[in-house]
Parts: sequence; C-alpha cells; structure tokens
Amino acid sequence: MSDPNELTVLNPATEEVVATVPAATAEDVDAAVVRAARAQTRWAALAPADRARLLRRFADVVDAHTEELAQLEVREAGHTVANARWEAGNARDLLLYAAGGAERLVGRQIPVPGGWDVTFQEPLGVIGVIAPWNFPMPIAAWGSFPALAAGNAVLLKPAETTPLTALRLAGLALEAGLPEHLFQVLPGHGGTAGRALVDHPDVAKIVFTGSTRTGREVMERCARLVKPVTLELGGKSPNVVFADADLKAALDPFSFLDNAGQDCCARTRVLVQETVLDEARAFLADALAAVVVGDPADEKTQMGPLISGRQLERVRSYVPDDAPALRGEAPDGPGFWFPPTVLTGERHDSPAAREEIFGPVAVLLPFTDEQDAIRLANDTPYGLSGSIWTRDVGRALRVSQAVRAGNLSVNSHSSVRYWTPFGGYKQSGLGRELGPDALTAFTETKNVFLSTEVPAP
Ligand code: NAD
Repeated sequence: MSDPNELTVLNPATEEVVATVPAATAEDVDAAVVRAARAQTRWAALAPADRARLLRRFADVVDAHTEELAQLEVREAGHTVANARWEAGNARDLLLYAAGGAERLVGRQIPVPGGWDVTFQEPLGVIGVIAPWNFPMPIAAWGSFPALAAGNAVLLKPAETTPLTALRLAGLALEAGLPEHLFQVLPGHGGTAGRALVDHPDVAKIVFTGSTRTGREVMERCARLVKPVTLELGGKSPNVVFADADLKAALDPFSFLDNAGQDCCARTRVLVQETVLDEARAFLADALAAVVVGDPADEKTQMGPLISGRQLERVRSYVPDDAPALRGEAPDGPGFWFPPTVLTGERHDSPAAREEIFGPVAVLLPFTDEQDAIRLANDTPYGLSGSIWTRDVGRALRVSQAVRAGNLSVNSHSSVRYWTPFGGYKQSGLGRELGPDALTAFTETKNVFLSTEVPAP
C-alpha cells in the first residue's frame, strides 16, 4: 500500500531509499493554483524580451547543474549516466529554444473588407503538466518550458516514483530569478494531486504524458470543463526492416532497449522481411548477448534496471520461462533487473505483440512484401513512432506515407528532437509538443477587427 501522505523514492538499481517527499493534497493544489494565477498575471505583462532573458538565465543555471541533475536521475530512475546527461542537456536546450519563441509569438494580419483584422496569441493562464516516470526531466521540460515562454504559469506533477529532478528544476528556476510561484512542482499521487489539477476550474489546460488508460480518464474529466488537453500516451512502434537494408544498423538492439525499453517510442515490433529473417535472428542473438546490463552509474553500462518491482512483474508476465526467445544477461537482485529479450515465437496478434510491455522486450515477426509490411505496421491501436529501413528511396517514401504514426524515421531510429513536432496518431495521443509551434499550443487565438469605415458626418 502506498502512503497517501508521502512518496518514497527508491533507487531501482539497489532498492535503497533515496528520499521521502511529502505528497501534495488536493488542498495543496488549490493553494498552488491561487499563487500561480497571481504570478502568471505579472509574468504575462512583462515584455517578451524580458521573459526570454529570464528563461535564458534559467538555461544557464540548468547548464551549470547538468551533472548534478544527471546523477540525481541515475539514483531516482536508474537511467544510465550517459542517458541522464543527455536528458539534463535536453532540458537546458529546450529552455533556450523556447526562450527565443517568447519573442516570436506573432499574430497575423488578415485582409478583410471595411477594416483591418489582426490576431493575437494570448497565454491561457495556469497550465497543469502531469508527467510519467520514464523520462522525468525531458517530459517535464517539454510540457512546462514552452508554456512558460508563452506567458503562462506551470504547475508540474511528476510521477510518484520520480519527483526529485522536477523539484530540483523548480529550485534552479528560482535561483535564476524566475518569479516565485510561476513554476511550481507538486509531487503527489495521481488519484489525488493529479486529479485535483485536472478538475480545477482555474487550470486552463492539461498536458498529460502517461498510459493510454489514465489518459482516457484525464480526457473525460477535462471534457466536463471543456478544458483543452494534450495527451502523449503509449506506443507499440514497428521497426520495418526490408531485405535490402543495412541489417546491422536496422537491428540495433538499442532501438528497443534504450532506457531498459521504458520508452514510449521503443521499436518493440521488429518486422523483418522473411528472406532475411534467419540472418536477423542470428544477428540479434549476438547483439543481445553483448549488451552490458548493470550499475547505471558506471560509464560502461548500456542498460540499467526497470523503475520498480511493479514494472518488473508486469514485464515478466509477458515472458514465460519457456517462451521461445533470444535472451541477454542481467544481474540478480537487489534491484529491478530484466534481461534484454526478443520473443521469436509470437503471432502478430498475440498480447506480447500488441500490448505495450514497457520493458526490454521486443517481438520478432516476419513479413512478405511491402503491402504486408504496411498492413502489419498499422495493425495496432497505437501510432506514436516507427522506423523504416530500405535502400530503395521510392519504397521509403511510400511506406512512410502509409504508416499511420506521428514520428517516423527512415534509415534511423531517432524519434525526438526539440526542433520538430512530437506526438501520436490513434490511441497514442492528441496534440503535439515541441517544434516551431510548441508555444502556440499554450495560447488562445484572439481575433480583433478594426473598422476603417469613415463615420457618417
Ligand atoms: P501513468 O498513466 O500511470 O501515470 C502518468 C502520470 O499520471 C503520473 O504522474 C501519475 O501520477 C498520474 N496519474 C495517475 N492517475 C491519474 C489520474 N487519475 N488523474 C491524473 N493524473 C493521474 O503512466 P506511467 O506508468 O507513469 O508512464 C508510463 C506510460 O507513459 C507508458 O504508457 C508510456 O508509453 C507513456 N509515455 C508516453 C510518452 C509520449 O510522449 N507519448 C512519453 C513517455 C511515456
């Protein structure tokens, strides 16, 4: 049973307690909203250049603390130290990118008869950001920093298991001179602090990242208040590998093992053209055996533990001991360890091939030709990400047009860049984060018509 009054943060590599943090109540959320609303009014009244300057200063302070933030992420989330450094750097870079947006949040002048017509992008007010545990820092940043740049205040609720880097970021914001109460972190349980944010009439928008199941509930509750919502949800992304591809690059096991597979964009459905299936299986067997799984603080480690005992049980439930599979190595306890695994005996409609496992487990599935590959790639309720590997340019274009997912890469496994829009089709989500329009998602468009009619004498 979890304690309603506090959050216990465990190091997933050792199961030792890293910290306990008081859990925000619904009353704490109410009080935070009042403070945030006051801070937002003053923030929105600042000149955009002044908001931009403060956000750049915040980026400088984050930059000076990247190693501290990274080490904190290693301890609370079990991320490899290399990944955690990238994550802290991503938060800093997004701050700089969003800061520039504050000065470029332009409206339009629209030709109309009888006058001038102009639009304004006005901040929404107080934004609620609800984050998951798998990438605590980047996902908190993607929701929060463009919202701040657009003139809003932000209340961020991190996941129960990973509140520490979010709390530190809020402390660094104050150190950088951001106004008090503008960016507040409310660690707490989803069913209390999370729901209180969603249900609060003065929280103007919710940015939710997490499971499709919780996202559905968040959307239903937002509907009652006609509150806008961005949803970044689950995935079961395909890696479509044609026979003419560079197989070594295409079958890079970190396309599904990065962050121990706890990645919404993980390419966990490895679809391989049947003529090279045996070659693919042999390559993956060697590749999994070579993955270094262990202490995430060690620079040589390539894959760390899962986040929790609960997540470990979930992952295990998809991989019975006698399941046909390629398997790597993982340490024994303490810690929440699971070996890199590729299931080789699944059908494409079996639970392991359809459901998001969120661990270091992929399924290997054959396809016959281009049409079959497209059919299998699309035969899922999700549509977040995916890769397409072929040397045939025409086929790369046809398949990337036919696959219904928000973030595809051709001859690459990359998904997220802060310069480009990110989000899902189908049950992977609603709306987009990042990219050149990131700030606009945190504004209302106001249209003003100015008559130029000459008044009658
Ligand atoms: P989760 O849905 O259990 O929790 C996410 C957040 O919602 C947590 O902060 C939690 O406390 C909060 N929450 C729980 N119940 C709530 C409620 N009733 N009302 C309001 N908030 C509530 O998800 P998780 O297990 O933390 O994260 C893993 C999931 O996140 C995976 O499905 C993964 O695919 C998804 N994810 C998606 C993206 C994306 O961008 N599409 C990115 C990362 C993770």
